[in-house]
Parts: sequence; C-alpha cells; structure tokens
Amino acid sequence: MDRGPDLLPALLGVLGAGAAYLPLEPSLPADRLAYMIEEAGARTVLADAGTAALLPDGVALRVDGPAAGPAGPLPEVHPDALAYVIFTSGSTGRPKGVGVSHRAIVNRLRWMQQTFPLTHADRVVQKTPIGFDVSVWELFWPLMAGAGLVVARPDGHKDSAYLASLITSQRITTLHFVPSMLAVFLEEPLLPETMRRVICSGEALGADLAGRFLERLPQTELHNLYGPTEAAVDVSWHACAPGEPSVPIGGPITNTRMEVLDARGERVPIGTPGELCLGGVQLARGYVNRPALTAERFVPDPYGPPGSRLYRTGDVARWLPGGEVEYLGRSDFQVKIRGQRVELGEIEAVLAAQPEVRAAVVTLRQERLVGYVVLDPDSEIDGAALAVRLRGRLPEHMVPGAWVVLESLPVTANGKLDRAALPAPGEQERERYVPPRDPFEARLAVLWEETLGVRAVSVHDDFFALGGHSLLALRLTMRLRKELGRDVALSSVLTAPTVALLAAELRRPQDNDGAPERIVPLRPAGDRTPIFLFHALGGQVFRYLPLTRHLGADQPVYAIQAAGLASGEEPHATLEEMVDDYVAHLLKIRPHGPYVLGGFCIGGNIALESARRLRAMGEQVPLVVLFYSDADEPVLRASLEDDAVLLMHALAGGPVQVELEDLHRMDPEERLLTVIDAAARADTLQPDTADLNQARRFVKVFRANAHAVGHYRHDPYDGDVLLFSPAENGAAPGDMGWSSVITGRLRISPILGDRFTVLYEPLVADAAAELRSSIDHGLTDG
Ligand code: AMP
Repeated sequence: MDRGPDLLPALLGVLGAGAAYLPLEPSLPADRLAYMIEEAGARTVLADAGTAALLPDGVALRVDGPAAGPAGPLPEVHPDALAYVIFTSGSTGRPKGVGVSHRAIVNRLRWMQQTFPLTHADRVVQKTPIGFDVSVWELFWPLMAGAGLVVARPDGHKDSAYLASLITSQRITTLHFVPSMLAVFLEEPLLPETMRRVICSGEALGADLAGRFLERLPQTELHNLYGPTEAAVDVSWHACAPGEPSVPIGGPITNTRMEVLDARGERVPIGTPGELCLGGVQLARGYVNRPALTAERFVPDPYGPPGSRLYRTGDVARWLPGGEVEYLGRSDFQVKIRGQRVELGEIEAVLAAQPEVRAAVVTLRQERLVGYVVLDPDSEIDGAALAVRLRGRLPEHMVPGAWVVLESLPVTANGKLDRAALPAPGEQERERYVPPRDPFEARLAVLWEETLGVRAVSVHDDFFALGGHSLLALRLTMRLRKELGRDVALSSVLTAPTVALLAAELRRPQDNDGAPERIVPLRPAGDRTPIFLFHALGGQVFRYLPLTRHLGADQPVYAIQAAGLASGEEPHATLEEMVDDYVAHLLKIRPHGPYVLGGFCIGGNIALESARRLRAMGEQVPLVVLFYSDADEPVLRASLEDDAVLLMHALAGGPVQVELEDLHRMDPEERLLTVIDAAARADTLQPDTADLNQARRFVKVFRANAHAVGHYRHDPYDGDVLLFSPAENGAAPGDMGWSSVITGRLRISPILGDRFTVLYEPLVADAAAELRSSIDHGLTDG
C-alpha cells in the first residue's frame, strides 16, 4: 500500500496476528514484487483498492476502511520470532530479504525511548518509505510512547517545502532525515521552530552540513545514528555539537557491540582503519532463504560468548580516542543514492543478462549512476532503450541516468577492470584533441581542466558536454574574473562554450556602453519559429540548456536573463517594466512574429504578459508554454520579504547565485562547492570585494524579481497555453489557477517527478517532444 491511513492498522494487524510483515512498495516493478513475495514466502498480501489490481487474482486481501478490533487475546510470540523482512539490494543480481526478530527491533525501540524520551506532547512524522527500515521506528516508537504520529502524504518525503509546512502546521517535534535530504531541507527559507530533534542516518553526515544545521536551528538537537538493515536499523549514536571537524557515528547503543577488525579478523588499534563488525541482540536472524549468504556475512564472534555472531558490515571505520567510531567509507561496490542502498553489482547483473550486452559496468559519478556497456556489434540498442528495460526490473533509483557504449572495457596491466580509466559520459564524443594555440587559450584551457576535473581539454570541446553545469560555469566565471581582473558575464560560458570561442569572446574589446546582454542565444540557428524563454526568480537562464538540446538542431531558442545581474545595473521593479524591456530586446533579435514564449516558475508569468504585449502590437504568438508557473500566487516564498533571511542565504549557502530550485537539485559535492564559494566571500573582510558585490547583486535580483511578479493578477488571455503541472500520486495534474485566466485553449501536461524535474534529464526529453509537437500540430483541447 502507499502511505496512508490504512497502512498502520494493516501493519498492526499483521503483528497482532503473530505474523511478520514484508513491506511492498507499489512503485516497484511487478517482477521485483513477485520475486520478493516468492523469496520471502509471504502467504497473504494486504492491498487496498488502488493496489489490489496490481496483483494476480486471489493473491490480495483487501484492506479498506476501519477494521474490527482484535477478536480475542493476542497470540504469544517468541522474542526470536520474525517481526519483519526488509529487502535490500544484492550484489549478485537479486535483492536479499533481511529477517529481523522482535527481540532485535524491540531493543532498538526501547533504546530510542530511553535516550530521547517522547511524551504525550511530542509528535513524530512518518515519511520514510516502508521499504526502508527507518520507517519501523517512525511507525512504532510514537505509539509505544503515547506520542502523536503524523503520516506524511506519499512522496511527501521528497518535497522539502511541503515538509516544512507540515512540520509547522502539525507541530512536529521529532523527525528523520537522510543527510542528502536534510541538506535540501535546510535551503528552505523559513525553517520550522517546533522541532526538538532531528535524527539523521542512512549515509555519512558531513561536518559542514551538521554545522550549518546547528547554526540555523540552534534550538534543535541533531543526532547521527548509524546501522545497517541487518542490525535492526541503528547500532550507534552520536549527538552533534557545533564546531566539530567531523561527525563520528558514535558509540554502540544498549546491548550492542562494535568491533573494528583487520583482514584476519583481529582487533586493530585506535585510529587504524578496519572493517566495522557488529554484535549483540540487534543482529538480524539472517537473509531469508539464503543460508550461504547468511553464513558469509554473519560470522562466529571470536570475542563474544559461545554461539554468538558478528555481522560484517563492509564499512571501513576506525576508533577515535574518545570511544566513538568514525565512518570512513565502503570496502566494496555498495553505494548510497540519497540514503538508498544500492549494490552496483545488482545493476550490472541485470544489464549483463540482456541478450545484446556483452559486458557491463556501473559506477556512481557525482551522485549519478552511469552505465558502461559493450554491445554485440550488430545490435541496434542504445542506452535509452536499456534504461527502459531496466525500469521493468529495478527500482527507479537504480536505473542509470547516463550511458556510455564502449568497444571494450578498459583493463589494467594485469587484466583487471580499470575503473579509473572509464571515460566520463560525454567525454567519448569529444572532438579530436586540438591543443591550445596561444598562451591565452592555454590559460583558459587550464582553468577549464581544473574546473571540470578532466584532462587535456581540446579547444573545441563543449563545456557542457564535458559535464559542466550551471554551478561549474559560475565557478569558472569567478576564476576568470580573478585571473583576468575584469568582469566576465556568466552568460559568456553559455554563448561561447569552447575554449576557442571563449578566448575569442574575451579578446574582444569590452562593450563601451557597458550594456549587459539581456538575450542569450542558446541556439540561434534553425528555421522553426523561435522560442523565447524567460528567466525565473534567480534571473539566470542555465536551466533551459537541457531543454534546448532536446528541442533539436533546427529549433532556435533564446533566453532572456534578468536585469541587475551585471555590475552597475538595477533590477526591474515591476512586471510592466520587465515586459517593456524584454519585448524591446526581443524585437531587436526578431522584429516580427510568430513567436513562441515560455518560462519556468515566474518566467511563465513574464512570458504570458510579454505575449499579451506582442499580440497587442499585432504580432502572432501561437503558443505560450508554462513550466510550473502559478497563476494565483507566483511567489512561492513569503519570506522573500525578509532581507536577513535572504542575505544569510546568500552568504551561507549561496543559493541565490543560482536559483533556489537549482540548489535543490545539486548533489552534495556541488553544494559543498557553493558553500566554499560563499564562505570565501563571507570572509571578504580583506580581499575580493568584487565577489561580495556579486553576491549582493544576486540577492537583489532575486528579491526584486519576487516583488515584481509576486501578487500580480493576470487579466484573461485568449491565446493557446501549454502548462506543465505536477501530477501527484498518479492524480491528474492541477491547473495551477490558469483555468480562470486562459480563455483560449489550455492544455495541461503532467510533470511526473517533482516540479523541477520537468526541465532536467531524463524527463526533459518528454517535455521537449511535447512542446515541439504542440508547436507543429497546435494544442489538442484538454
Ligand atoms: P541500510 O541497510 O540501507 O540502512 O544501509 C546501511 C549502510 O548505510 C551502512 O552499512 C553504511 O554504509 C551506511 N550508513 C548508514 N548510516 C550511516 C551513517 N550515519 N554514516 C555513514 N554511513 C551510514
């Protein structure tokens, strides 16, 4: 079942009957669900009206609405009996079910209540998907303690704005975050003050993130818990304090032991890395139905009483002098993707089983899975088609987002796979290497190599094809400014994305009138009706790059960036002023229509008003496209009014340099870069006031844009509009307030991920296709 009011009674019913539960998330591929049911030996499947149809006839027992209370006394259940089975990724190609006893999980829950006593005044939110064992404490701990339990809407755990408002409105006091989600959450401009404690686990908690948390939420405790599914959720705990250089995973909890052992199974001295092994009552019974695998990971405990076992985690760790343990990394190919455990070997095994695939390797590069495949010479399949097949077998987060087809896998001198030699996606298609042709190009090439972390940049290599993204472009322009001692516009990297082009651009004498570029030609060539895309809150236009790529080589695309980003320039104060200015620039590029206009967030509101202006001038605007734009209340964040909040954002996390929405999508490394960049600026008591000024300009633009477009009421508009709007839980996408504004045709197309994904890989491909076909064939009524 999806998360909802019937889920908890269903789980309580299972346990009350003396049975164990196996969580099945409806979003998983049917094949995987069937495998889990079979492997775990589940006898009965509880489903609701929405999910019963997914199962073969006769398998499902429907749970709808309130059920009757227990018919008689509860059965006796032995402490070592199974309480639940949770599947985790398996390195040999199939997931494995971890069977956990009542004794193990009860120890864990009682430790939690002893350590963080909940009272009737507390409220805990349940937001972790039930296939992940953190959900076990979220569900049962508040009930054991008589505290309140608030169930988040399905998928709510991915939406930090929703969570922030849920926490405030429901007065949540205790909740869990995986660190990567906590980092996103912390970017919310207004953080709830009701929280007494936040519990982190699932992946490494960085000292910078913990520090930022304690600074922004000094009244909230932050705890780092560690443990694998195989040891009943968590086995160690560390309470975070401000100013720690690193965040340990802490010391063992009640009835638990931690050992750091060398390859021979012997204890290593304090400070020496070894494999972290766990003992005590919380160890799982083993892997269901997999005795060999169980014997391999749950080994006899040389330091415990006879018959006791140790679980070998595969984590590398060391003891710190104070009796706590520090996590250092993995010893194998298990990775975490936003807290979710993934064995790269499982994905590789599924890939290798495809008939056209001769060999396959999967790696995690900057938070993104990359699939490397060697294909049969006559096969026609490509990465996109392989991804579709994988989606039928693996959970969505395990499907690689980038693909590289290789002639053969690179090997080391002794014939082993050479992972370090696997090319970055995109690197393969690099043009023939053309070395820098003069000292200036050489200087730029070095900056590119350092910014992108690649070797031997050819002067014709495209910055974005080499893995460049908005934040890296920002870093590059900041370095260029430092090196060259002059202002370099961020958009230069967009319009001149190779070393050769950029060198030529920067050699040109600087504009004498200092007039900044308002219109950025993302793709000036092509014979179709040009599309003009307007900036959103942050004022920049990087977000439209993937869309431009997918729209095709014959589709011209121009982007309009905000006033105020360049030095000496003021942002626009009103939407009318924006429209005056933008339309004037647009007419310079293309004096007559037709025009297609569009934008993300407030960019859509600006597009609609620009379309109205152009039509009033007698020009044709066959289509306006809105990506997640709101008709009623375009400004999503009331706290934009607050200078201090914004400025702190600018200095602490730098989110206003790129758009807030962009920051939400960054991986931890990018975030780190942002914070480093911002910290460098925050220290600018002595040098580099230029960069501080830049930061201030971004804040100013952001706020000005919010003010200019916020609270704007659109008059009726009788042209055609295509709206991309989020579709939650398979429900139809909402109209975002446009039905009452658009008197022409309005077509609403669902955004299947969260709202930002519509402009990013992989969903942007569908959005581009739909936009192209809407331009070609007009809107069908919808
Ligand atoms: P799971 O079974 O999904 O809970 O994943 C367990 C693994 O997640 C551990 O073996 C670690 O590699 C990692 N992990 C869990 N909690 C932490 C933490 N607090 N710090 C670092 N890694 C963690």
